Amino acid sequence: MSIFANSMGYDLDILPLSGWIETGGLPLIISGPCSAETEEQVMETALKLAAIPQVKIFRSGIWKPRTRPGGFEGVGEKGLKWLKKVKKETGLLTTVEVANPTHIEQALKYGVDILWIGARTVVNPFSIHELASALKGVDIPVMIKNPVNPDIDLWIGALERFNKAGINKLLAIHRGFYFFEKTPFRNAPMWEIPIELKRIFPGLPVICDPSHICGRREILKEVAQKALDLEMNGLMLESHINPDIALTDKEQQVTPEYLGTLISSLVIRKIEGSVEFETKLEELRTEIDKLDAELLNIIARRMNIVDEIGEYKSTNDITILQLERWNNVVINRLRTGIRLGLDKKFLQKILEIVHEESIRRQTEIYKKRNGGKPKD
Ligand code: PEP
Ligand code: MN
Repeated sequence: MSIFANSMGYDLDILPLSGWIETGGLPLIISGPCSAETEEQVMETALKLAAIPQVKIFRSGIWKPRTRPGGFEGVGEKGLKWLKKVKKETGLLTTVEVANPTHIEQALKYGVDILWIGARTVVNPFSIHELASALKGVDIPVMIKNPVNPDIDLWIGALERFNKAGINKLLAIHRGFYFFEKTPFRNAPMWEIPIELKRIFPGLPVICDPSHICGRREILKEVAQKALDLEMNGLMLESHINPDIALTDKEQQVTPEYLGTLISSLVIRKIEGSVEFETKLEELRTEIDKLDAELLNIIARRMNIVDEIGEYKSTNDITILQLERWNNVVINRLRTGIRLGLDKKFLQKILEIVHEESIRRQTEIYKKRNGGKPKD
């Protein structure tokens, strides 16, 4: 799997975040329950959240995607009336997840300010196409969560489809990715993916949803801080007046009080420092640039020798892989690398990709020599 996007030539016409919401230069904070359950729960949560100055948008699931039928599937349309009341009584903007054109129609009817597209919907280009078509000619911000699986192209595809339908108030939400192995997270963050998205679209606001990444409140702060340190533009955090009895995602929801404390404990770091700091940073970066150039040069030289060995082995009818040699290389390089202070897992990854590429190159050489067929 690669974190890099496959296709090229993206062109999104995006309005900067400041063009549709005022955050006073601070990270955008969105909060509210995973699901709207009762009018009291929604109103009480919203009133408390509105007292936290950084919270600008109230979120709430109205239609909930459940794995199996029969669970709590959201309160539906009546929840939209509560959100209307939230807006009127607190001044907070409101947002809901929409997954089909009927949801959009109802959300618009009740004056929801911002729509969001859930991770399960983003995996399906048919659904995205339908939703984008339903928004043709509508001027409303749309926030798009990453797809459940770590496929950056699906995420980009969804952004493109909404943009093509005329939506330029776009924002991406990083909520982590399904990972088959057990990790400390509910959804593995795989930070490289949102970073790559920001690299491709520097003008696209990207916020993080630590609640769905963590799945439990104990590690929310750590993830929220990391997101801000990676220059994310804000956070979406679930909040419930009584998380322990929440109908959905109860382990990851926090009370508005807890949220207030969490937000004020976050360190908002500057993107740029003093002249002195910038000069020193520039010097260090020049050093890195030089080292990277040397590194690439060395890798290219190494591959040339790999090719030479490939030619030599194939003319002498020797197999590409000699396990004993490879085993010695691994042991030796790990020992040297660890002595130099490098992490063992990191070294293993490097060795693996270098070895994979060496074998690929030598296989090509063998193929050429045998008229297109690998010998073994
Ligand atoms: C949610 O925000 O409550 C939700 C269902 O999120 P996701 O689509 O990220 O699973
Ligand atoms: Mn949730």
